[in-house]
Amino acid sequence: MENCTKNDLKLVEKAKKILQKNYKSDSIKHTVGCALTTKSGKEYLGINLDGIHSICGEQCAVSCAYVNGDRDIDTIVAVGIVDGQYQVLSPCGNCRQFLSEYAPNCKVIIKNGDELKKLTLEELLPYAYVCHVDYTK
Ligand SMILES: [Zn+2]
Repeated sequence: MENCTKNDLKLVEKAKKILQKNYKSDSIKHTVGCALTTKSGKEYLGINLDGIHSICGEQCAVSCAYVNGDRDIDTIVAVGIVDGQYQVLSPCGNCRQFLSEYAPNCKVIIKNGDELKKLTLEELLPYAYVCHVDYTK
């Protein structure tokens, strides 16, 4: 577990801003914003998309990076609204598996008590199911 850098905290703000831009209090469609950086230094954003087959903000942001051929994800963070306050969210179980397949080398910003920390995927999902297909290629 690592401490967050200033750039990590800026990434948290970007996740918050993309949620602010898409959040509507009378709707549950978009309640999570996500931001990620890639090793190439670019940033991609995502929001959750609710529906019969919903996707999470993390999956949306990683998809945006892949669409742009930018597949080496460096750091990712999701922000939601909890009790009326913006808060960094831990990835759901489905996203932990998704990230282990599509962003295996990324670090994930999480809330640990009152602090924000950065975890490797191995720390976040120990004993992960190992898929024998490399989706990052
Ligand atoms: Zn998720």
